[in-house]
Amino acid sequence: MDIEQLKQLQDVDIQIANIYQEKTELEETLQKDEEAYKNAEITVAEFNKNYEQLEAEKKAKEAEIQQTTEMIKRWDARLKEAKSGREYQAFMREINGAKRDISEIENAVLKIMEELEKIDTTRGEEKKKIEEIGQRLQQTSEQSKSRISVLAKQIQDLDLKKNTIAKNITPTMLSMYEQIKKQRHKAIVGVKKSICQGCHVNIPPQLFNEVIMNNRIILCPHCQRILYYVEDTVAAEQKPKRNKKAV
Ligand SMILES: [Zn+2]
Repeated sequence: MDIEQLKQLQDVDIQIANIYQEKTELEETLQKDEEAYKNAEITVAEFNKNYEQLEAEKKAKEAEIQQTTEMIKRWDARLKEAKSGREYQAFMREINGAKRDISEIENAVLKIMEELEKIDTTRGEEKKKIEEIGQRLQQTSEQSKSRISVLAKQIQDLDLKKNTIAKNITPTMLSMYEQIKKQRHKAIVGVKKSICQGCHVNIPPQLFNEVIMNNRIILCPHCQRILYYVEDTVAAEQKPKRNKKAV
Protein backbone atom coordinates (compact mmCIF):
# COMPACT_ATOMS: atom_id res chain seq x y z
CA MET A 1 0.00 0.00 0.00
CA ASP A 2 1.28 3.42 -0.98
CA ILE A 3 0.44 5.01 2.37
CA GLU A 4 3.29 3.24 4.23
CA GLN A 5 5.76 4.25 1.53
CA LEU A 6 4.42 7.81 1.60
CA LYS A 7 4.87 7.95 5.38
CA GLN A 8 8.48 6.83 4.94
CA LEU A 9 8.95 9.38 2.19
CA GLN A 10 7.61 12.12 4.42
CA ASP A 11 9.90 11.07 7.27
CA VAL A 12 12.88 11.39 4.93
CA ASP A 13 11.60 14.72 3.66
CA ILE A 14 11.30 16.05 7.23
CA GLN A 15 14.82 14.85 8.03
CA ILE A 16 16.13 16.55 4.90
CA ALA A 17 14.32 19.79 5.78
CA ASN A 18 15.76 19.80 9.33
CA ILE A 19 19.31 19.11 8.17
CA TYR A 20 18.93 21.69 5.44
CA GLN A 21 17.84 24.26 8.01
CA GLU A 22 20.84 23.58 10.25
CA LYS A 23 23.15 23.75 7.24
CA THR A 24 21.63 27.03 6.03
CA GLU A 25 21.92 28.61 9.49
CA LEU A 26 25.59 27.63 9.75
CA GLU A 27 26.29 28.93 6.26
CA GLU A 28 24.53 32.20 6.95
CA THR A 29 26.39 32.80 10.24
CA LEU A 30 29.69 32.03 8.58
CA GLN A 31 28.91 34.26 5.63
CA LYS A 32 27.83 37.11 7.93
CA ASP A 33 31.09 36.94 9.88
CA GLU A 34 33.19 36.74 6.75
CA GLU A 35 31.38 39.74 5.27
CA ALA A 36 31.70 41.75 8.49
CA TYR A 37 35.41 40.93 8.55
CA LYS A 38 35.88 42.03 4.93
CA ASN A 39 33.86 45.22 5.49
CA ALA A 40 35.87 46.14 8.58
CA GLU A 41 39.07 45.59 6.61
CA ILE A 42 37.81 47.87 3.83
CA THR A 43 36.83 50.52 6.40
CA VAL A 44 40.28 50.40 8.02
CA ALA A 45 41.94 50.67 4.62
CA GLU A 46 39.82 53.74 3.88
CA PHE A 47 40.74 55.25 7.25
CA ASN A 48 44.43 54.57 6.55
CA LYS A 49 44.20 56.34 3.20
CA ASN A 50 42.39 59.29 4.76
CA TYR A 51 44.91 59.44 7.59
CA GLU A 52 47.87 59.46 5.19
CA GLN A 53 46.30 62.20 3.08
CA LEU A 54 45.71 64.38 6.12
CA GLU A 55 49.22 63.75 7.39
CA ALA A 56 50.65 64.83 4.05
CA GLU A 57 48.47 67.93 4.20
CA LYS A 58 49.72 68.66 7.71
CA LYS A 59 53.37 68.29 6.62
CA ALA A 60 52.80 70.67 3.70
CA LYS A 61 51.25 73.23 6.03
CA GLU A 62 54.11 72.88 8.51
CA ALA A 63 56.59 73.44 5.66
CA GLU A 64 54.61 76.53 4.70
CA ILE A 65 54.90 77.83 8.28
CA GLN A 66 58.62 77.16 8.17
CA GLN A 67 59.03 79.06 4.90
CA THR A 68 56.97 82.01 6.09
CA THR A 69 58.96 82.16 9.33
CA GLU A 70 62.20 82.30 7.31
CA MET A 71 60.69 85.08 5.23
CA ILE A 72 59.79 87.06 8.35
CA LYS A 73 63.38 86.68 9.55
CA ARG A 74 64.69 88.09 6.26
CA TRP A 75 62.28 91.02 6.40
CA ASP A 76 63.21 91.59 10.01
CA ALA A 77 66.85 91.91 8.98
CA ARG A 78 65.96 94.35 6.20
CA LEU A 79 63.74 96.29 8.60
CA LYS A 80 66.81 97.27 10.58
CA GLU A 81 68.41 98.62 7.41
CA ALA A 82 65.33 100.59 6.31
CA LYS A 83 66.38 103.92 4.87
CA SER A 84 63.09 105.73 5.24
CA GLY A 85 59.93 105.62 7.27
CA ARG A 86 57.98 104.55 4.18
CA GLU A 87 60.32 101.65 3.55
CA TYR A 88 60.06 100.67 7.23
CA GLN A 89 56.24 100.76 7.05
CA ALA A 90 56.26 98.62 3.91
CA PHE A 91 58.40 95.91 5.57
CA MET A 92 56.23 96.04 8.68
CA ARG A 93 53.13 95.45 6.56
CA GLU A 94 54.74 92.45 4.92
CA ILE A 95 55.84 91.07 8.29
CA ASN A 96 52.41 91.52 9.88
CA GLY A 97 50.70 89.95 6.87
CA ALA A 98 53.04 86.97 7.05
CA LYS A 99 52.38 86.58 10.79
CA ARG A 100 48.64 86.54 10.13
CA ASP A 101 49.21 83.89 7.46
CA ILE A 102 51.14 81.78 9.93
CA SER A 103 48.42 81.93 12.57
CA GLU A 104 45.81 80.90 9.96
CA ILE A 105 47.94 77.98 8.85
CA GLU A 106 48.51 76.98 12.48
CA ASN A 107 44.75 76.90 13.03
CA ALA A 108 44.36 74.70 9.98
CA VAL A 109 47.08 72.38 11.33
CA LEU A 110 45.22 72.14 14.65
CA LYS A 111 42.02 71.19 12.85
CA ILE A 112 43.89 68.53 10.88
CA MET A 113 45.35 67.17 14.13
CA GLU A 114 41.86 66.93 15.65
CA GLU A 115 40.67 65.13 12.54
CA LEU A 116 43.63 62.74 12.72
CA GLU A 117 42.82 61.94 16.34
CA LYS A 118 39.19 61.23 15.47
CA ILE A 119 40.21 58.92 12.64
CA ASP A 120 42.69 57.16 14.88
CA THR A 121 39.99 56.46 17.51
CA THR A 122 37.43 55.13 15.03
CA ARG A 123 40.10 53.19 13.20
CA GLY A 124 41.11 51.61 16.50
CA GLU A 125 37.51 50.48 17.07
CA GLU A 126 37.36 48.94 13.60
CA LYS A 127 40.68 47.19 14.17
CA LYS A 128 39.34 45.77 17.41
CA LYS A 129 36.27 44.53 15.54
CA ILE A 130 38.51 42.84 12.95
CA GLU A 131 40.43 41.16 15.73
CA GLU A 132 37.25 39.93 17.45
CA ILE A 133 35.63 38.60 14.28
CA GLY A 134 38.96 37.14 13.19
CA GLN A 135 39.28 35.22 16.44
CA ARG A 136 35.72 33.99 16.22
CA LEU A 137 36.21 32.92 12.61
CA GLN A 138 39.41 31.14 13.49
CA GLN A 139 37.66 29.24 16.27
CA THR A 140 34.43 28.37 14.45
CA SER A 141 35.15 28.54 10.73
CA GLU A 142 36.82 25.14 10.38
CA GLN A 143 34.30 23.56 12.72
CA SER A 144 31.35 25.06 10.83
CA LYS A 145 32.79 24.15 7.45
CA SER A 146 33.32 20.51 8.39
CA ARG A 147 29.84 20.35 9.95
CA ILE A 148 28.38 21.86 6.77
CA SER A 149 30.06 19.21 4.62
CA VAL A 150 28.83 16.46 6.95
CA LEU A 151 25.29 17.82 6.65
CA ALA A 152 25.62 18.11 2.87
CA LYS A 153 26.62 14.45 2.74
CA GLN A 154 23.64 13.51 4.93
CA ILE A 155 21.30 15.37 2.60
CA GLN A 156 22.85 13.58 -0.36
CA ASP A 157 22.33 10.20 1.32
CA LEU A 158 18.76 11.03 2.27
CA ASP A 159 18.05 12.14 -1.30
CA LEU A 160 19.18 8.71 -2.48
CA LYS A 161 17.00 7.07 0.17
CA LYS A 162 14.09 9.24 -0.95
CA ASN A 163 14.57 8.16 -4.55
CA THR A 164 14.60 4.51 -3.52
CA ILE A 165 11.35 4.89 -1.58
CA ALA A 166 9.77 6.92 -4.38
CA LYS A 167 10.38 4.06 -6.81
CA ASN A 168 7.80 2.02 -4.87
CA ILE A 169 5.13 4.69 -5.12
CA THR A 170 2.90 5.15 -8.14
CA PRO A 171 3.67 8.35 -10.06
CA THR A 172 0.12 9.68 -9.57
CA MET A 173 0.42 9.21 -5.81
CA LEU A 174 3.85 10.75 -5.80
CA SER A 175 2.77 13.87 -7.64
CA MET A 176 -0.28 14.16 -5.37
CA TYR A 177 2.05 13.96 -2.36
CA GLU A 178 4.39 16.63 -3.76
CA GLN A 179 1.45 18.87 -4.65
CA ILE A 180 -0.06 18.71 -1.14
CA LYS A 181 3.39 19.12 0.44
CA LYS A 182 3.95 22.31 -1.51
CA GLN A 183 0.72 23.81 -0.18
CA ARG A 184 0.46 22.29 3.28
CA HIS A 185 4.07 21.53 4.25
CA LYS A 186 3.06 18.14 5.62
CA ALA A 187 1.22 15.99 3.05
CA ILE A 188 0.33 13.00 5.22
CA VAL A 189 -1.20 13.27 8.65
CA GLY A 190 -2.69 10.89 11.13
CA VAL A 191 -6.30 10.74 12.22
CA LYS A 192 -6.69 10.24 15.93
CA LYS A 193 -10.10 9.85 17.58
CA SER A 194 -11.51 10.79 14.16
CA ILE A 195 -9.74 14.17 14.28
CA CYS A 196 -7.37 15.15 11.48
CA GLN A 197 -3.99 15.93 13.08
CA GLY A 198 -3.24 18.38 10.30
CA CYS A 199 -6.19 20.76 10.63
CA HIS A 200 -7.82 19.41 13.83
CA VAL A 201 -11.20 19.12 12.18
CA ASN A 202 -13.48 16.14 12.80
CA ILE A 203 -13.62 13.49 10.05
CA PRO A 204 -17.15 12.16 9.28
CA PRO A 205 -17.67 8.61 10.73
CA GLN A 206 -18.05 6.88 7.37
CA LEU A 207 -14.80 8.42 6.08
CA PHE A 208 -13.03 7.67 9.36
CA ASN A 209 -14.00 4.00 8.98
CA GLU A 210 -12.49 4.03 5.52
CA VAL A 211 -9.27 5.49 6.92
CA ILE A 212 -9.13 2.63 9.42
CA MET A 213 -9.78 0.06 6.70
CA ASN A 214 -6.97 1.54 4.61
CA ASN A 215 -8.25 0.18 1.31
CA ARG A 216 -7.87 3.41 -0.62
CA ILE A 217 -6.25 6.82 -0.22
CA ILE A 218 -8.48 9.15 1.81
CA LEU A 219 -8.02 12.91 1.83
CA CYS A 220 -9.15 15.13 4.70
CA PRO A 221 -12.31 16.88 3.45
CA HIS A 222 -11.15 20.06 5.18
CA CYS A 223 -7.37 20.39 4.54
CA GLN A 224 -7.02 17.89 1.65
CA ARG A 225 -4.10 16.10 3.32
CA ILE A 226 -3.64 12.34 2.91
CA LEU A 227 -4.91 10.59 6.03
CA TYR A 228 -3.75 7.51 7.89
CA TYR A 229 -5.14 5.93 11.00
CA VAL A 230 -3.43 6.47 14.34
CA GLU A 231 -4.51 4.40 17.29
CA ASP A 232 -5.70 6.44 20.23
CA THR A 233 -2.77 5.73 22.57
CA VAL A 234 -4.43 7.25 25.65
CA ALA A 235 -7.42 4.97 25.30
CA ALA A 236 -5.07 2.06 24.54
CA GLU A 237 -3.06 2.73 27.69
CA GLN A 238 -6.11 3.13 29.86
CA LYS A 239 -7.59 -0.22 28.87
CA PRO A 240 -4.85 -2.41 30.40
CA LYS A 241 -5.04 -0.38 33.62
CA ARG A 242 -8.71 -1.17 33.94
CA ASN A 243 -7.93 -4.79 33.23
CA LYS A 244 -5.34 -4.83 36.02
CA LYS A 245 -7.87 -3.42 38.45
CA ALA A 246 -10.36 -6.01 37.36
CA VAL A 247 -7.79 -8.74 38.01
ZN1 LIG B 1 -7.34 17.99 7.82
